[in-house]
Amino acid sequence: MTTRTDGPVATLAPASLDQGTPSFAEPASTPAALLLLGRAQDLGSERGVECPGDLPAASDPDLVARAHAARQTLGSNAFVLGHHYQRDEVIDFADVTGDSFKLARDAANRPDAEFIVFCGVHFMAESADILTASHQQVVLPDLAAGCSMADMAAIAQVEECWDTLVEAGIAEDVIPVTYMNSSAAIKAFTGRHGGTVCTSSNSRVALTWAFGRRPEGRGKVLFLPDQHLGRNTAVSQMGFSLDDCVVYDPHKPMGGLTVEQLKNARMILWRGHCSVHGRFTAENVTAVRERVPGVNVLVHPECRHDVVTAADQVGSTEYIIRTIEAAPAGSSWAIGTELNLVRRLARTHPELEITYLDRTVCFCSTMNRIDLPHLVWTLESLAAGRSVNRIVVDPDVAHWARVGLDQMLALPGI
Ligand code: SF4
Repeated sequence: MTTRTDGPVATLAPASLDQGTPSFAEPASTPAALLLLGRAQDLGSERGVECPGDLPAASDPDLVARAHAARQTLGSNAFVLGHHYQRDEVIDFADVTGDSFKLARDAANRPDAEFIVFCGVHFMAESADILTASHQQVVLPDLAAGCSMADMAAIAQVEECWDTLVEAGIAEDVIPVTYMNSSAAIKAFTGRHGGTVCTSSNSRVALTWAFGRRPEGRGKVLFLPDQHLGRNTAVSQMGFSLDDCVVYDPHKPMGGLTVEQLKNARMILWRGHCSVHGRFTAENVTAVRERVPGVNVLVHPECRHDVVTAADQVGSTEYIIRTIEAAPAGSSWAIGTELNLVRRLARTHPELEITYLDRTVCFCSTMNRIDLPHLVWTLESLAAGRSVNRIVVDPDVAHWARVGLDQMLALPGI
């Protein structure tokens, strides 16, 4: 693990996202302690640290040339991964682009590269470190690039939740399933407890597998850390009802639930969400339909249940890209996902009318921490033989996280 030191933590007040439908009220958003602008460190955070290094000035007119020069010096010794939500100025230097799982697999397929430069967020770099060989170094250009969703499930909270399930007498019926967007410690938890990791592409397959591990009608899933992906998968894709789902709030005793509620539930959803996708509302969908006649609304399953229900199509980042690439010329699309990706799709598909689902601009703030100055500093440091910002997962955590990841890889369709 990278070194941690104590420091001040800025706590974001929980903003209400309640936009309930008559039959179902979305829980309020999850409080999360975030470090603003990467200042200092938080021992309880998935990542949010001060990033060392003497960064070039953002105004330096030679940044692009410097990045090209350092990239050329490194040659095949470095492999640069760019998540779809990264800035264009960073994507321009990526050898491959993709979602978190694809990028981790791409990294594992390049054992010749000593340096894996991961332009994404911390949990992604952890997964790449787990899946790559020990002689490879996974580097995160800005150590403050964490993920607020991953931060919403700390391992101590999840262990406490498990103790609650044991005390309620239901733990043996529960299979933990965690989304890729979680810390290595949470992935290790699922590996230790016979569960699996999943992506937004295969969450239905993962849940089907998990329920199949227990006698019909008895199994339960503890879904971490994104309540929306868990709910949307179970209800919209698998026929469970909203009443089959309960939300476990790690900030309340017993998750804010009774033993009876835990016993009756089939899906125990961790109270976490994505700060970007959680912003979209059903009102956004209504408004864009009024604004753009005939528009197709395409959203990510990390969006709230009422948004997913109101949309025309729902799918992972890769699904969104494939859908847009196959769309007929002249068609109109309102896309509910991170803005860097939506803008790139709009630019590369001028034959389509593409709009952002929310009129308020919303980038992923931690994804955006990786900018050209950080990339230049990283590439130049590596080219000069200085190892910087290496992400190393504790061996025991890595072992059990690998068990959870390998279980996912063994699921059909992966
Ligand atoms: S888009 Fe959401 S899930 Fe992805 S890194 Fe940002 S906060 Fe985390």
